[in-house]
Amino acid sequence: MSLRARLTLFYTVVLGAVLVLFGLAVYGLVSVVQLRQVDATLERTARDLILVTRINDEGDFVLSERVSLDSSVIVQIWDTNNRLVGLTPSAEPDSPLRQPLDSTNFSATLPVYNSVTVGGVHFRVLTVPLYTQGTPIGVLQSGTSLTILDALRDEIVRYLVVLSLIAVILAGMFGLVSGRRALSPLAAATDTALQITRADDLSKRIPTRGIVDDEVGKLITAFNDTMGRLEKLFATQRRFVADIGHELRTPLTVIRGNIDLMRRVGIEDEQSLHSIELEVDRLSRLVEDLLILAQAESGKLPMDRRRVELDTLLLEVFSQAHILAGEQVRLEIGQIDQVLVCGDRDRLKQVVLNLVANAIKYTTEGGKVTVSLSKETGQGVFSVKDTGMGIPSGDLPHVFERFYRGDKSRSRSKDGAGFGLGLSIAYWIVRNHGGEIEVKSKLNRGSTFTVRLPLADKDCADATGELSERKPLAAQPERIG
Ligand code: ADP
Repeated sequence: MSLRARLTLFYTVVLGAVLVLFGLAVYGLVSVVQLRQVDATLERTARDLILVTRINDEGDFVLSERVSLDSSVIVQIWDTNNRLVGLTPSAEPDSPLRQPLDSTNFSATLPVYNSVTVGGVHFRVLTVPLYTQGTPIGVLQSGTSLTILDALRDEIVRYLVVLSLIAVILAGMFGLVSGRRALSPLAAATDTALQITRADDLSKRIPTRGIVDDEVGKLITAFNDTMGRLEKLFATQRRFVADIGHELRTPLTVIRGNIDLMRRVGIEDEQSLHSIELEVDRLSRLVEDLLILAQAESGKLPMDRRRVELDTLLLEVFSQAHILAGEQVRLEIGQIDQVLVCGDRDRLKQVVLNLVANAIKYTTEGGKVTVSLSKETGQGVFSVKDTGMGIPSGDLPHVFERFYRGDKSRSRSKDGAGFGLGLSIAYWIVRNHGGEIEVKSKLNRGSTFTVRLPLADKDCADATGELSERKPLAAQPERIG
């Protein structure tokens, strides 16, 4: 059964049950009120009669004065021999009114009400025992027909049943219609999901035109967002596999070519061996970078967190980078504040080395690279600024993506340059330290990479590991670029 039908059925049944309960309550209330009125009339009539009823010397019941009684009430007085000794209104000798209204209560010792059927007519009867000087002398029974009241109650039942049925049918119809309207976006969602599965097309989205911002609307938005992310993820995955394939192909071709050459010539050519060695090194670096990246992306990069003097680390990198920069690029130190952060020294050094090496690599002769470090509220901020070739604005959002390389970088990559993984590794290391990395760049004017890291707090162990045990750190050779 569909959700719509189930919901409709559920609410219709609930409504039906509520209406039945309501009907029973109305019916019961009306019955009780009516019966109370009837009982009050019977009691009043019996009391009025008892007040004026006397027994004469012959032992007959007589009325001491005239009383006006309710015309709808029949009153019978029966002596202890079950003889009818008084009746109002008077009736023919063979009239059914001369039959006892309620013979079951002739021996009652207290006033008692009863509902009985006499001659096919529904009666309400009050039986009052009569005494004189403590001796029982008979009973007085006042009764009235309940036919009109019964008819009225039947009418109420009929109205309640008909109205309830109409209400339930209307509610069912309304439920089906409103259910269809409310759930139609879900049907569209199911269609789209099926289309995606059948056609393997992740670009499909559920139409959002006309949807309201309710639970279903939110579900659809969330579904579309998820599909968007999945599509991106799959595209990235595909590109990733293609990139790896591409990166592997060149060195493998070179290795294969050199082996073939040596086999043909029949001697171990030193130049070929060197070429093979270079390519194997390059492949090792690629695998190593990919492993680090995979660990960093999943947050599982082993890290030995301690207090790190960022200023000392920066100066260390600075002196190493001089060799790289050579005479062509001027390396400068800007403002350097003393900054303590909490993190893995080797990983952080890798980040700084990457940024400085890139800055040198992408700055042409005569250019300048400036490294600086300052302390801002709760953060240590270091930046690497160069006056190099800059990054086109269209490329800026992608520089931290895996295997991303600018066009100029690609054209240089034949000499064994980077794989386009350095910045993504830097990005994830910084992220794993709770920091941020950003880049600002102008084409042909230069770029500035800025890294913000939270300052070390008192819980962070110092370099000797005073507060925490040293965790094993995966061997990570220092590599520039
Ligand atoms: P690569 O190994 O190619 O340097 P990275 O991940 O380190 O890989 O950098 C990705 C790309 O970002 C580079 O190919 C280059 O196009 C661009 N890039 C990085 N740093 C700079 C910089 N300082 N100036 C200009 N372009 C840069």
